[in-house]
Amino acid sequence: MSQHPSKDVLDVLVVGAGAVGGAIALGAARQGLRVGLLERNTAPTFHEVMPVTRVATLNIASMEFFARLGVQDALEARRAHAFSGMSVWDAHGPGHIRFDADELGVPALGWTVEHAALEAVLWDEMEAAGVALWPETEWKTVDTGPDRVDVYGNGHALLASARLVVAADGAQSSLRTRMGIPVHEQDYHARGVVATVTTERPHEDTAWQRFVDDQIIAFLPLADGRSSIVWSQPELQAEDTLALDDAAFCEALGTVIDHRLGAITATSRRASFPLVARHAQYYHAGRVALAGDAAHTIHPLAGQGLNLGLADACALIERLHGPARRDPGAETVLRAYTRDRRAENAFMQRAMDGFRLIFGTHAAGLPELRGLGIRLVDQATPLKRRLALRAFGLD
Ligand SMILES: Cc1cc2nc3c(=O)[nH]c(=O)nc-3n(C[C@H](O)[C@H](O)[C@H](O)COP(=O)(O)OP(=O)(O)OC[C@H]3O[C@@H](n4cnc5c(N)ncnc54)[C@H](O)[C@@H]3O)c2cc1C
Repeated sequence: MSQHPSKDVLDVLVVGAGAVGGAIALGAARQGLRVGLLERNTAPTFHEVMPVTRVATLNIASMEFFARLGVQDALEARRAHAFSGMSVWDAHGPGHIRFDADELGVPALGWTVEHAALEAVLWDEMEAAGVALWPETEWKTVDTGPDRVDVYGNGHALLASARLVVAADGAQSSLRTRMGIPVHEQDYHARGVVATVTTERPHEDTAWQRFVDDQIIAFLPLADGRSSIVWSQPELQAEDTLALDDAAFCEALGTVIDHRLGAITATSRRASFPLVARHAQYYHAGRVALAGDAAHTIHPLAGQGLNLGLADACALIERLHGPARRDPGAETVLRAYTRDRRAENAFMQRAMDGFRLIFGTHAAGLPELRGLGIRLVDQATPLKRRLALRAFGLD
């Protein structure tokens, strides 16, 4: 249930009820700050019947963050599914690397979670924590002053004022544009085709990923035994894939994953999204801070997009402790938040590009060399462990 817009000055106003915005609003409210949230869509709801096309993987750091926010149990009750294995291999050459939770001494390598479930859980908790929620509400004008930001809706009606406004309004962030924050963009001229599929053989609670020329296919294990797939392909190929009928799509998918899970016996409706890496040149202007996709997007290879956004959320909330409570939008607070996150996000973007280049190149001898490299990493336990700790958010 939404509450009436308050004319008092809030400590934090979040724009966008995606996972990142929801986590920031909830975390700030848990610290006793006065928090509001604007979302242009209706309040998110959880569907008992799995309608999934949009699924993400949470790493251990993200799930620990949700545990601290008090929502891990609710997520697990809404089909968040722990997986214990990850297999990555190359169609050309002998390279194969396998990670196991047991080997690393952790209970799980990660969780697959439906976006709708995640957003609905956060929304319910925000409501219970007293966050002022304004669904189906869009800002029209923003006035930034030295002490606060005033946010107006239709007819220049004041929606809310806050010491700190967080733009968690996604990759096309209009608040980022309004604040004049430049973005560096790298278009991969590729699309991620997503669907939920049924496979002949069980997924073994394993995330499977195969590199095939300029395509990457990932199968993510779901709670009901199906798998969520993300198939990154050059634009023209993606168009062809989306135009296939279900039987031909299942056949093509079986081939690209090398029939690792047997035949693909059924598929949901398909969707796709453009693959573009973006990075805002700075993460705050005045009293407005960027977080999640509003600040950065990366290639879905390795499923880190949401995890990086949640790491932003965690860092920002940490920065609101102590003296920052008096003024969460102070320049010193937002500069410290940028220091915490921008270099790390840039590093992950470069790492994803490095992987893509290494795996997408087929010069003579390179697949064999790459295979040898992967095998060496697979067998060199300390190196593999370090790689895994970073990838699964354990370091
Ligand atoms: C189809 C698809 C599949 C994906 N699959 C994966 C995956 O498998 N693994 C992975 O790690 N990442 C994946 N990603 C990326 C991942 O979803 C994002 O990194 C993550 O959702 C970012 O969360 P966010 O909260 O920053 O932004 P978003 O989830 O985009 O949320 C932004 C919110 O802001 C609201 N909003 C926008 N403008 C306004 C406005 N003006 N006023 C009020 N509200 C506004 C929107 O309605 C939305 O609720 C996928 C993305 C897409 C689109």
